[in-house]
Amino acid sequence: MKKRFDIEINHDWCKACYICVKVCPRSVFDIAEKESHRGFKEVTPARIDDCIGCLMCENLCPDFAIEVEEIENAVEQN
Ligand code: SF4
Ligand code: SF4
Repeated sequence: MKKRFDIEINHDWCKACYICVKVCPRSVFDIAEKESHRGFKEVTPARIDDCIGCLMCENLCPDFAIEVEEIENAVEQN
């Protein structure tokens, strides 16, 4: 069964360096088109189903703003 993951981004800690966007091998993240109230374009895990749980984003985020967790007992939807 395909593993599934949950990705949490702490937007209070993220400083929009976009390292996560660049390192993700599955292009899971998108950058918002508009600036948030904090003055930058936030990152969102737009293609969460494509995540393979490699943890590159979590490990390389300089602000510890990403948490990737495997969803236990996830049932494949396809
Ligand atoms: S690597 Fe971390 S700080 Fe940089 S954009 Fe991604 S979540 Fe934000
Ligand atoms: S764990 Fe890997 S595949 Fe999943 S979002 Fe992070 S970098 Fe991309």
